[in-house]
Amino acid sequence: MKTIGLIGGMSFESTAVYYDLLNNMARDRFGGLASAEILLHSVNFADIVALQQSGRWDEAGKRLSAIAANLEKAGADCVLICTNTMHKIAGQVQAAISVPLVDIIDETATALKARGCKRPLLLATRYTMEDGFYHAQMSSYGIEVMTSEKAGRDRIHSIIFDELCKGKVLDSSRAEMLAIIDAARSTGADSIILGCTEICLLLDPNHLPLPGVDSTLVHCQAASEFAFTDDTALDGVRKYA
Ligand code: GLU
Repeated sequence: MKTIGLIGGMSFESTAVYYDLLNNMARDRFGGLASAEILLHSVNFADIVALQQSGRWDEAGKRLSAIAANLEKAGADCVLICTNTMHKIAGQVQAAISVPLVDIIDETATALKARGCKRPLLLATRYTMEDGFYHAQMSSYGIEVMTSEKAGRDRIHSIIFDELCKGKVLDSSRAEMLAIIDAARSTGADSIILGCTEICLLLDPNHLPLPGVDSTLVHCQAASEFAFTDDTALDGVRKYA
């Protein structure tokens, strides 16, 4: 089994989901008392949020790159950045290591394509919905990402940072998200991306009015396929239904 390096803490609420999913995937695959080989560096999220808010993405990229290099030095065979938003600087992080960075956007796109989805609604932070990096990477897979109108985007961003990242999962916010999804369906969305690693705490991708892809789940599936098989490449080990 290979060792999975996690850059987590963004927020720790979703990193706990990664830890749980990866270990359960190991137990399901190998049985008995098997669990995943994991190295975790969990950051102080407040520091990262301050860098996001002041637009200091390059500094954030340097910080996460140094962490990734340390994980590789400590024995990680691959590295995951456990947040969609910080994939804005994924190229910088990949350039700092020689092991593969399992890219959450590539994995989400691959899962969408496997299901024949072409116009997904993206539920994510404001940075992911508005900065362009996510849409550009998805469009290289022939996927046209939709976002809701500004009031909807502001509300989604606030549900993520003011509630989910603080451990608050509210029925009223779930209802608001479902209303946003309904509105997008009527304007042509054919699927939903849970494009923030905390949204799976609020929405079940299998119980939505449109097919849902949970970025946290497909990220962990890709990492486990890589770590639990003898293959050394990421391509060819993905198994999406
Ligand atoms: N975990 C979130 C994401 O997947 C948001 C936290 C962050 O800003 O990194 O984008």
